[in-house]
Order: sequence, then C-alpha cells, then structure tokens
Amino acid sequence: MVLSDITRLIQLAGLSDAAIFDGVLETLALALGVALALHLLLDIFVLRGRRRAGELAVREHQLAAVAELSSALTLAGDRESIARTVLDTLNDLVDFDFSGLLLVNEDGSEASGLIGRAAGTDVDWFPSTRLDLENEMSGVRRAVETRALFTVEDAPGSPEVSAELVERAGLKSLVFFPLEGERRIVGVLAAGSTGEFRAFRPEQLSLMRMLAAEGTLALERMESVSALERGLERERLVAEISRRVRAELDIDRLIDAALAETAKALDVERCFIRLGNPGSAAPLRAEWRREGIKPITASATPFLSVSNLALRERKTAAIADVENDPQLDDDSLGGREALLELGSRAVLSAPIILFESVIGALAAHTSALRRWSNDDIAFIEAIARELGIALHTAGLIEENKRQLEEQNALLVATEAMTNELELDSVLALKLAGGRAELVGPSSSKQVMKAAVHQATQLLEGDAALMLELEANELVVRASEGEGLEEMYARRFPVAVSLAGDLVHSREPLVIEDLARDEGPLGALDPVVGHGFKALIGVPVIGLDDALSGVLIVYSRRVRAWRLKEIEALVTLAANSASALANAALYLRVSLEREQSLAILSSVADGIVAVDRAGRIVLWNAAAERITGIASSEALGRPLSEVLRHEMEAPDGVGERAISIRRGERELWLEVAEAVMRDPGGQIAGKIYTLRDVSADRFVEQAKSDFVSSISHELRAPLTSIYGFAETLLRRGELFDDVQRRTFLSYIASESERLTGIVDALLDVAELDAGDLQVELATIDVGNVVREVVESARSESESVQGDEHSFVADLSDEPLSAEADRDKLRRVLVNLVDNAVKFSPGGGTVSVVGQKRSGAVELRVRDEGVGIPEEERERIFRKFYRSSSVLSGGTGLGLFISRGLVTAMGGRIWVESVEGEGSTFALELPFEREPVVEE
Ligand code: ADP
Repeated sequence: MVLSDITRLIQLAGLSDAAIFDGVLETLALALGVALALHLLLDIFVLRGRRRAGELAVREHQLAAVAELSSALTLAGDRESIARTVLDTLNDLVDFDFSGLLLVNEDGSEASGLIGRAAGTDVDWFPSTRLDLENEMSGVRRAVETRALFTVEDAPGSPEVSAELVERAGLKSLVFFPLEGERRIVGVLAAGSTGEFRAFRPEQLSLMRMLAAEGTLALERMESVSALERGLERERLVAEISRRVRAELDIDRLIDAALAETAKALDVERCFIRLGNPGSAAPLRAEWRREGIKPITASATPFLSVSNLALRERKTAAIADVENDPQLDDDSLGGREALLELGSRAVLSAPIILFESVIGALAAHTSALRRWSNDDIAFIEAIARELGIALHTAGLIEENKRQLEEQNALLVATEAMTNELELDSVLALKLAGGRAELVGPSSSKQVMKAAVHQATQLLEGDAALMLELEANELVVRASEGEGLEEMYARRFPVAVSLAGDLVHSREPLVIEDLARDEGPLGALDPVVGHGFKALIGVPVIGLDDALSGVLIVYSRRVRAWRLKEIEALVTLAANSASALANAALYLRVSLEREQSLAILSSVADGIVAVDRAGRIVLWNAAAERITGIASSEALGRPLSEVLRHEMEAPDGVGERAISIRRGERELWLEVAEAVMRDPGGQIAGKIYTLRDVSADRFVEQAKSDFVSSISHELRAPLTSIYGFAETLLRRGELFDDVQRRTFLSYIASESERLTGIVDALLDVAELDAGDLQVELATIDVGNVVREVVESARSESESVQGDEHSFVADLSDEPLSAEADRDKLRRVLVNLVDNAVKFSPGGGTVSVVGQKRSGAVELRVRDEGVGIPEEERERIFRKFYRSSSVLSGGTGLGLFISRGLVTAMGGRIWVESVEGEGSTFALELPFEREPVVEE
C-alpha cells in the first residue's frame, strides 16, 4: 500500500514536473527507506513472539540486507547497477547460484537480458538474451502473462521455460518473478540453483517479492528518470527549436538545425523534411545524414512511402520494419524498394500540418528495425509542429519582409517626400525670393554679394563664400558670415585647394564633417581655422557651360546635408551664374553704349536712329548742330515730321540729297540710311546719317555759275577789243586821229580789264597751290589808299548818274607797314569796287586808315545793302557770290583779298548791318617781324 502510493507519487511527481523532480527524488528515496524500515520493524515485532530465535536471526539479517539494498538502490546510477544490487542481494539472501534480470519492452512482445549475476560477477552472455514473449513459451512469458511468481523445480525437463536460458545457465530449479510496474510488467527476475533441484520456501519467496518490488521501484524510477531526461532533452530540443522558429529568420538554417537535433534525439541516421501537398511529389527540402550515409536522390523522393503515408493519412506513420510492415503493401505509396535501397529499415514520419492543411512531412530513418516509442512519436510530432510554424513564419516573414520593405520604403519615401516637399517648397520660396535679389543688381559685385547672402539664408548656413575663377586661381569676391570680411580678394591656387576640386570635378562637393571627411585636405579650404565643420560647395556654371567660380556654404556644426539642399544650392549657383552673365552683359552694353555715344557725339555727321515704328530714338549732337533742332525736340517723333521732308527713299537709292528749310535758309542734307535688324532678322529700325552738303552744293553751283559768269566777264572786254580793233583795221582811214586814239584807249582799258581777270584767276591758282609770292617792303599805306580812292572817284565821275562820293580818311602821320604795295592796291581796289557795287543807291564810300598797336588798320566802309550774318564768313570763299542781282562778278575778289592779306601777314574781316552798309577791315603788320640772324 505504502509502496504503491509512494511509487505513484514519485511517478506523478517525476513525470509531471521535471524541474522539481531532482529534489523530490532524493526526498522520496529517503522516505521510501524509512517506510520500508518501519514495515519490516512491524513485521518483526508481530512475529517476534511466535517465531524461533533462528528465524529471528535470519530476519534480522534479511532486514539489514533490505535496508542495505534500499540505500544501495538509492545510490544506483543506472539500471545495470540496480540490477546488480538486487540480484546480488537475492543470491545472498535466498541462496541462489544464479539470477538475472530481463527487461520487457513497451508492448510486452520481447524480453531482453539486462544483467545476469553468478558468484558475485556478471554473466557475460546474459545481456544478449532475447525472449520472444509472443511466440515462444518461457517462464518469463508466463510470469509476464500471469503477473505472478512462477517456480519450476525441474527446469531442464520443463517445456514451460526457455531451454536456452536453462541450458546456458546450467539451472536445475528456477523462480520467475514479474516486476510489476505502474502500468505494466517492466521486467522479470529469473533466479535459480545450479547444484540441486530444490523447492523454495514461502519466506524465501516473500523475501524475493520484497526484493523484486524494491528492484521494480528502482527500475521504474530509473526509467522515469531516463524517460524524463529523454523527455526533458526532447522537450528542451523542441523548446529550442521552437525558440529558434520564433527567433531565427533564416528558415534554411533553422530547418538544418532542427533536422540535426531531431536525428540526434531519435538516434537515427537520416532525418529529412519534404514539402508539398499530399499527392504531389513533395520534394525534399532538406536532409540531415550521419556521416557515410548516401543522400536521397530527387528521383527516389516520390517513393519514400512512409512519409507519403504520413502525408496522405495526415498522421504520424511509425514503421518498425519497412520490409514487413503491411501498411506499406499499398503500392500507391511508393513501395519498399526506395527505402530499402537507402538502407532504411525503420522509418518514423510525421506530417507537417498548418491550418488544417498538410504542407509536408518530417521523417527519420534508421538502418535497424525499431519499434518507435510513444515518446519518439510525440517528439517527432512536436518537431513537425514547430517546423510547420517555422515554415509558416518563414513564409510570413518573407511575405512580411517584402510587405514591410515595401511599406517601409513607402513610408520612408512618403516621409522623405513630405519633408522634401516641405523642404522643396521652402527652398523654392527662398530661391524665388533670391532670384529677384539676384536679378536686380547690375554689377557682378552686387550679384556675388547677393549670392552669398542668399546661399547662407537658403541652407541656414553660418557663412558663405563666392570665389571667382581667374586663370589658375580662385579669388574671394564676396563673403557672408562673421569674421570673413578680411577674406575679400584673397587668392587660392586651384591646383591645391579644396575649392579647386570643384573647379576640376564641376560637381558639388559635400562635406558633412571636415575633420572626419577631409583630414589634412581640410587645410586647403579657404576658411579653415574659422571653426567650420561642414560645407557644401557648388560650381558656378553659366548657360554657356563655362565655369565662372564656386559658391561654398559653411556650417559651424557637423551637418548631414540633404539632397534637396544640395540641389537648391546648385540652382542658386546657376541663378547666380546667369545673373553674373547679365551683369557682365550689362557692363559690356553700357560700355558699348558709352563708346557709341562718344563716337556719335564726336562725329561730324548727324546720326539719327529710328525704331521699328519710325520714331526717333537717337539724335546726336551733330544732328542738332546741322539741323538746329534739339534732340529733346526730335526724340520720339517721326523723322519726316521733324525734318519736314519725306524720308522714304526712292527705289534703289541709298544715298541722296534732300533740301530742308532751316529758318529762312535752305539746307542741303546728304542722307544715307541703313536698316537695323534684330537677331531674328526682323527690321528693328533704321539709322540715318545726315551730312550738311549745303556748302559743297553751293560750291558746285558756284563753279557752274563761275563758268558762265567768267565766260561773260571775259567775253565783254574781248568783244570790245575785237570790235574796236576790227573797225580800225577795216575802216581806219575813215576815222581821225582823235577817234582812233579813243578806240585804242578802249582797247587798252578792256585789255587791262581782261588782264585783271586773268590775274585774278592766276592768283586763285597760286593761292590754291600755296605758292603765292608777296614782295614785302615798308611802304606808305596812305599813298596807296589815296591813289585807289582818287581812281575810284574819277571813274565814278565818268559814269553818268553815279551818286557815290569817296572819302580817304587818313591820319596825318605816315602809315607805314610791311606790305606788298601792288597786292595791297589790288585788295583795296576790290574792296572799294564792292562798296560801290553793293551800295546801288549811292552814298559815301570811305577808306579810313589808322595806326593800331603794332599794326596799320584800314577800313573800307559803304552805306549799301549790307551782308546777312550767315553770309559774312562765306563771302570770303572761292566763287561765292550772293544771289543778289547786284552781284555780277566772279566771286573770287574777297577770296583773293583774304589770300593776299594773309600772305602779307595781316588779316581781313567784315562787319555789317543789313540795309545800312558794310565795313571791310584789314590789318597789316606795322613793322616786319625782326628776322633772327643765323
Ligand atoms: P565779286 O568779285 O564777284 O564781287 P567778291 O568776292 O568780291 O566777288 O564778293 C563776293 C560777294 O560778297 C559778293 O557777291 C557780295 O554778295 C558780297 N559783298 C562783297 N562786298 C560787299 C559789300 N561791300 N556790301 C555788300 N555785299 C558785299
């Protein structure tokens, strides 16, 4: 009673909770010993009164032995030790020659020898003993079946005992005692005597039962312990696999580990996993093999009939004997050949079930026949379950991983996009604001200043530099940030500077941590030592792809620059580049404009530009001077309106002369025009050049006038001379001497007039040639004046109705001057003649002579028509004659007069009031310039 309770307790305790088992085991073993002792003491106490003293002694001996056995069993570490202790005690107490312990397997089909003892030693053959409990008759079998002690007094003659055992042990009489465990008969004690046939006394049998119980207990405990240990080990394995299933993300590694552990735990040569639905080929996913075992081929896989069975039946298939198991008779499973070929005699396979579906099978192969235990089955099922989870998880993980990655990528992208979008819009706003600032300035200095400011603002940097590329150097042109003012105009060779990298690569240079990323190169940065930790530099590249410099933004802290920021800075640099190009263009255009204006204002020709609509946009100083129209008056109006002349050129005529009115006068302008075209080839406007050709045109006119007038001037005296000479020749005898003298005097005077004309022409020729000779001498100018005035008076008196009077107003003192007397006379004659001619109403012609400082001044004054102001200079030109009817001369008189006076070292000019008269004044040097003797 007590024993079975305790046993149950132990079993319950042992099986239910591994963790507490170890502690409980010892306690229970102790309790067991105590219980046994009490039991025996009670027995002894009851018997003491009625048994003999000898029996008492035996009992005491037995008692001591059992106590000893009990404590020995407590110490036994394995089944063999238990067996030895029990058997030796048995031999000793019951006086057997031989005893052995046979273990009965789980299903009671077989008994196998564990330990046999004779004379205190192991019986060597005993462990190999195998008794078939189903098909052979034996004492062991009988003991198992009857669960009761079985004695055979004549063993060799009994058909009920194993002949082999009896024979080998040489036994005469035998006792079989079943070891009845909690659930089944776990073994059988066989003990006997070899010397003689004997019977066994009840007390001996009683003692034997006691010892058997003791041994059973120990064995079961041991069994429990090892089962427990095995269970624990497997449990631990399953737990480990389970843990890995949940932790290991690499399904292949997990499967490999699970197969190896399973093979080890089940003690098999091969362990594999097939994946696939029932009915499918379910290929091998992984296989573990003991060394030297050949692998399963792909072609053999479909014929693995046990795992096929597990797959089909959805339950574990435990085949102890592949060759003979009738479950494999069904050929549709794949037969036995493939398995036998692999050397597999026993196979255990569990389906891998996931959510009610079979997804594969886990199988264990061993080369020995093997009856798979419930534990084996439970174990492989547990592993299969875990693998199912693992496979599912792996699928999930893979699926999840993909989804997660997608989600993550999406999340990152979304976040990035949100940020970037925000950043984008912020940067875009800043850039847009900055562009306006960049567009404004017209000098490159202003642009660069704006650029560094913008760059700093844009990236929230601490400083920025703009360096301009000049030959092989980068020159700081603008800086922003504290302490960088003195950087201005500092030069850095491109070859050895960090910024120079930008010039070469033309790519942004992004440094998050100068100390880390650049090391000694950082020393080449322009502002190293100013405490900057990070920078972005971008090249400033214009539309023409030319690199004009670099723009660098600095940060005082280590900084991970964002892509958008880099891009924004690149954009800013591009904006700066175009602003710089604009500034350069602006500068060039303004320079060109200045140059053009300078040229336009200095040229003698009037230059007028009109726009597409024909409105004046340019009216230079010469145009103002020529036309007398201010540019303020002309600008914005059509040229034809300003000049009051149609400007459309007749077809094919590029250059033409037009006449316009300037006040009272007619002005001749030579007009040339050129068409301006814009880059697209469209007419953008026209440029006109205006040249005042009034004088040239006048000269031309004068020349033709001269030819006709000179012809007339020459013809008149020639006609007279010819007429008088012919009359004298043909009719000379008809005229008297006086008449002939008169004729001859006409011929003489007309010849003189002719000579005068010719002289004048010669003078002009000489003046033009620049070789007019004057013979200067100190002469009395007064005498010349008197002569000329007298001559004029007498001539005037000879002409009927001439109302002129002549005055020579000379100072008393002699007016000596250095002059050519003849030439001076000719000058005065011309001036007096003109005075008479241009005062048709008569009046006084006076010649005033007086001394000035260093000079003699002569003034020839008339009371005639006068000379308009604009003509006063022109009258001294060659061939110039006024259009007045009064003018009948050659237009050479004043031209020659000025030439002669100038040749004598003097000067001549005119003063006049229109309608009142004119005064021609001339100045002659008083004395000859002293000649410096060489
Ligand atoms: P010419 O020999 O044909 O007179 P001149 O050279 O002497 O040519 O004079 C040129 C022009 O100067 C004249 O045609 C006239 O218009 C003007 N002129 C010269 N002297 C006078 C004067 N005393 N009063 C007014 N006009 C004059």
